[in-house]
Amino acid sequence: MTDLISIAEARRRVLEAVTPLGEEDVPLEHALGRVLAEAVTSAIDVPPFDSSGMDGYALIAGPKSEREVIDEARAGYPASEAVRPGAAVRISTGAALPDGADAVVPVERTEGGPVRVRVPATEAGANIRRAGEDIRSGEVVLRAGTVLGAAELGVAASVGRASLRCALRPRVAVLATGDELTPPGDPLTPGRIYSSNSFALSAQVERAGAALAGRGTVPDTPDGTREAIREALEAADVVIVSGGVSVGPHDHVKDALRELGVEEHFWGVRLRPGKPTWFGTRGGTLAFGLPGNPVSAMVTFQLFARPALAALQGAAADAPRATAVLAHPVARNPRREEAVRVRLHHSEQGLVAESTGEQGSHMLTSMLGADGLALIAPGDGELAAGERVDVELL
Ligand code: AMP
Ligand code: MG
Repeated sequence: MTDLISIAEARRRVLEAVTPLGEEDVPLEHALGRVLAEAVTSAIDVPPFDSSGMDGYALIAGPKSEREVIDEARAGYPASEAVRPGAAVRISTGAALPDGADAVVPVERTEGGPVRVRVPATEAGANIRRAGEDIRSGEVVLRAGTVLGAAELGVAASVGRASLRCALRPRVAVLATGDELTPPGDPLTPGRIYSSNSFALSAQVERAGAALAGRGTVPDTPDGTREAIREALEAADVVIVSGGVSVGPHDHVKDALRELGVEEHFWGVRLRPGKPTWFGTRGGTLAFGLPGNPVSAMVTFQLFARPALAALQGAAADAPRATAVLAHPVARNPRREEAVRVRLHHSEQGLVAESTGEQGSHMLTSMLGADGLALIAPGDGELAAGERVDVELL
C-alpha cells in the first residue's frame, strides 16, 4: 500500500471496470427503486380527451342567461346529447366535455336546477382541461437511467404501461471477516464484538437498488477466507468483504482474492476513514475489500461500492452533492482527504454543515443522523468555521 490514490482516482478505476448488467421486464407494482433501461414514450394524450376541471355545467360560452339542462356527463360516462345554444349539460370533474360545449361554469356560480339553471357571463375555454395538456402522444416521459420513484411509477401508469424494461439488480454477497465477530442475539464472550458491518453494509446494498445474494461471516484463516470468497464470487456480480484487508498477520483477504484470480485495481486510498480499501475484478465480477472499522466500511461503501452498483444498473454514478459552510472549525489531515459525517441545516448563510460528533472510524454512532460526508481536502492546521465545503449527500 505504498502509492495511495485519491478518492476521485479510486472511483474512476471502479467505474472503468463496470459493464452494465442486462435488462428484464418488471411489473409496475415491483418496480419501485429499479432503474429504467428504456425511454418511455407515451402512446396516448394525457388527459386523453377534453374534460371538465370542475363540477358544474358544460355549455356554449356567452352572456348571463338561463339554460335548459338536457343531460349529464359523469366521470367515465360521457353525455349522449350534444350541447346546443340555450342548453347546458350537468358535468363532473374529469368527465368528457360534451360535443358542442366550449366552457364549464362551476356549480357554485349557478342558481336553480335541476331542470333549468341560471349562469353568469362565461368565456370560451373556462374550466376546461385540454387533451394532451399534461403529456402529448409521442412524447418521451421517462428517460433510460432514471431511478423509479413514486412520481415516475405514477407517470408510467398514466400512459398505460403495466410493466417497464428495467436494469437487472446486481446480486451482491456481503462477507464480514473476523474471529471476534458474534451475531447479534448471541451472548458476548470475552474479546468478542457484535458484527455490525454485516447489517449496515447489507442495508446499504439494498438501498442502492441491488439484491443481497448472500451474507456470511468468515474466520481469520487463509482457507476459511478463500473458500467463503470463492463461493461468493460464483454467486454474485459484486462481492463485498469487510475487514482483513490491512497489513496484519491475520489479514487474509487480499491473498485470498489474488489466489482466486481476482485482479487488483487498487489497494489504498488517500482517505480517512478508509485508507486500506482494496478493489479488483475477475471477469465482470467486482470485488471490494473494505476496511473492518464500521465507519470506514460504511464510508467506503458509499464512496466506491454504491457508484459501482448504480453504474451496473445504468444509473448516474455520482451521488448528489451540496456546498455548505462549516458550523465550526475542522482539523485537516496532512496527507489524506477526510470524510467528516455532518448534519445539514438551513441558515441565512445557506446550508450549514455540523459534525455529528466524535469522528473515530470505530464510532458508528457518528453515522446516526448524518445527512452527508463533508469531504475535507488534505492540508495543515484546520479549516475555519464559515469555510465552504463539498458535501456528498447520503
Ligand atoms: P480489520 O479491518 O479486520 O483489521 O478490523 C478493523 C476493526 O474493525 C477491528 O476493531 C475489528 O474488530 C472491527 N470489525 C471488523 N469487522 C467488523 C464487523 N463486521 N462489525 C464490527 N466491527 C468489525
Ligand atoms: Mg479483522
